[in-house]
Amino acid sequence: MQNIKGPDDLQRNVLDEELCTGCGACTNLCPYIDMVKANAIIIEPCGLSKGRCYNFCPRSYIDVPSLDKSIFGSYREDIAIGSNIYVMKARAKDEEIRSAAQYGGVVSALIIHALQTGKIDAAVLATSSDGVNPKPTIARSKKEVLECVGSKYIVSPTVSKVLDAIKGEMGKIGVVCTPCQMTAIRKMQDSPFETGEEKISLGIGLFCTWCFSPDTYEYIRSLVGSANILKTDIPPPPANIFVIQTDERRVEVPLDEIRKFIMPSCAVCFDMTNEFSDISVGTVEGEEDWNTVIVRTRNGERFLKSAKEAAIIETKPLEKEKFNHLCEASLNRKKRALKEIDGRKITYLTIRDEERSKIISWNGGI
Ligand SMILES: Cc1cc2nc3c(=O)[nH]c(=O)nc-3n(C[C@H](O)[C@H](O)[C@H](O)COP(=O)(O)OP(=O)(O)OC[C@H]3O[C@@H](n4cnc5c(N)ncnc54)[C@H](O)[C@@H]3O)c2cc1C
Repeated sequence: MQNIKGPDDLQRNVLDEELCTGCGACTNLCPYIDMVKANAIIIEPCGLSKGRCYNFCPRSYIDVPSLDKSIFGSYREDIAIGSNIYVMKARAKDEEIRSAAQYGGVVSALIIHALQTGKIDAAVLATSSDGVNPKPTIARSKKEVLECVGSKYIVSPTVSKVLDAIKGEMGKIGVVCTPCQMTAIRKMQDSPFETGEEKISLGIGLFCTWCFSPDTYEYIRSLVGSANILKTDIPPPPANIFVIQTDERRVEVPLDEIRKFIMPSCAVCFDMTNEFSDISVGTVEGEEDWNTVIVRTRNGERFLKSAKEAAIIETKPLEKEKFNHLCEASLNRKKRALKEIDGRKITYLTIRDEERSKIISWNGGI
């Protein structure tokens, strides 16, 4: 269902409600919108009653049944993690990738494989000059992909760079992004507005529970000074810490101390496992050098098969217990989001009634 409105509605329903995710889908399309500290700002009214800014925004509206239909051909059977063909553990075979990557290096290995096989001509990734502050960038070689390894937990306006890549005629584009960013890209692909979205031929989605605002940077620097930051990490529960690894020491911050920097828009996020991607990738509880991988679309399945056949990644089954924990974490995320949405009387999310009541009445356990 298309529900296209304009910038006044974007202001009222998204920006005034502090729901901007900082994805960058509305900037770079329009001279009247800018991004300040990961928040879109409408500089001047453009007078349009319908616009791509509202249409592509991942917090203006998400019609889950309609997106499911257009991406997967049918509505999801799995209410915990969304449509999927299979779930497994995987890691990059290439030691160079694995040693640099956040966990098993599956994301970087798949992007390099996609570039080397012509599946894509360019990839939109997030790099960082200091290991913390992400900057979206375009990678076209293994070297450039390796310059982007690692999770930067501050929000990156990745979708604005996707629009750059489309405008720059860079051929077939792959993108690595968080769930809100992937939602914007899928909305773009499902939209009556033509933006060159058909050039996006591979979407690798990162799991994400929440993302930090840009103010986090100064806080992190106050803890480690000007030290060279090698990596930051949020190990899976029950660790409950944010880790900053510099070349001199490891600093552990209790998550409760750093939670104040979480983007307000994350409170209403319904999607932890990147449900609209071709392939979703996250951590594996207790196994730092492996990834959990969810293969969702036929496009993703074909591509992953070629990566396996070319011995780019190795795979193992995901244990039932770990799979159940993943589903529980995802359902928890959904239940919290629905409560927040209902409590604030926000109406951006459409899901089927049957799914809504199952999630609301879910009380733990799979
Ligand atoms: C903000 C954030 C929150 C996350 N939360 C969770 C979580 O709750 N649970 C979980 O299991 N996994 C989470 N992840 C995913 C996890 O940290 C790893 O990125 C994922 O498991 C892939 O590991 P890898 O070794 O294959 O990554 P790598 O091969 O090292 O590749 C990492 C890729 O992530 C991209 N990237 C880095 N930072 C950003 C960013 N801010 N925005 C967009 N793209 C980025 C880079 O371009 C790079 O391509 C999160 C990631 C991010 C960025």
